[in-house]
Amino acid sequence: MNGGPPPEGPPVLELRNVSATYGPYRALFDVSLSVRAGSALALVGANGAGKSTVARVATGLVPTSGGTVHFDGADITGRSAFAIARMGLAHVTEGRSVFGSLSVEENLVLAFRRPLGRSAVPEALSRAFDAFPRLGDRRRQSAGTLSGGEQRMLALARALVVPQRLLVVDELSFGLAPVVVEEVYAALTRVLATGTSLLVIEQHVERALELADSVVVLGKGSVLYDGTPAGARSELGDLVLGR
Ligand code: ATP
Repeated sequence: MNGGPPPEGPPVLELRNVSATYGPYRALFDVSLSVRAGSALALVGANGAGKSTVARVATGLVPTSGGTVHFDGADITGRSAFAIARMGLAHVTEGRSVFGSLSVEENLVLAFRRPLGRSAVPEALSRAFDAFPRLGDRRRQSAGTLSGGEQRMLALARALVVPQRLLVVDELSFGLAPVVVEEVYAALTRVLATGTSLLVIEQHVERALELADSVVVLGKGSVLYDGTPAGARSELGDLVLGR
């Protein structure tokens, strides 16, 4: 993990010379990056640098206008978000993505039943509540009445308990109290230990660098740096790392 050499496993996710546009506006220019098996990549950079666009391209939400995306060795360029999700790539964003009128427990049961099977749901629920005890306390509460941080915990719990090949987390700690950020990162550290790879987009750059094995810095839609967290700290100025 952090402080060591760059991770060497085969890439789980690989972007090769990816470009992406929103109408006439080009958001990504020839972006290449790899997330290695069992490792965590921190994707950092200034506001508007293109970090979320990388996440959307990887998860099939935004099409590429050039280049390729590979997942587990398969070329997934142009595949639908649904098809990519079924391959084991989960995307958790800061946006509120829970079913507001359902309870916390109903949201989790819905997420767990299909991939894990009905008989595995009780055990999956207890793992979710172990990871986020606050959700256990509120299991009967409508998800729509949870605080913003609690809703993000719920979205994360859904993705963490179902085994994934890669979890893309986009600004998950944005606006959260420090103690909640710690809970989120503790959960991400545990999921990394189970072998799931992580692509972490973060405003809390130092926090992300503590977790990550490698780091990519984006600036104006291009890769400015691709290397280890230690290298990023020594080679890049405070401006680029946003400190
Ligand atoms: P932040 O840290 O502020 O969330 P980011 O690095 O995630 O920024 P992106 O959200 O990927 O950046 O945006 C990259 C660029 O693409 C920005 O200039 C943004 O204005 C533009 N952009 C993003 N989404 C759209 C969209 N739906 N339509 C038009 N332009 C967009």
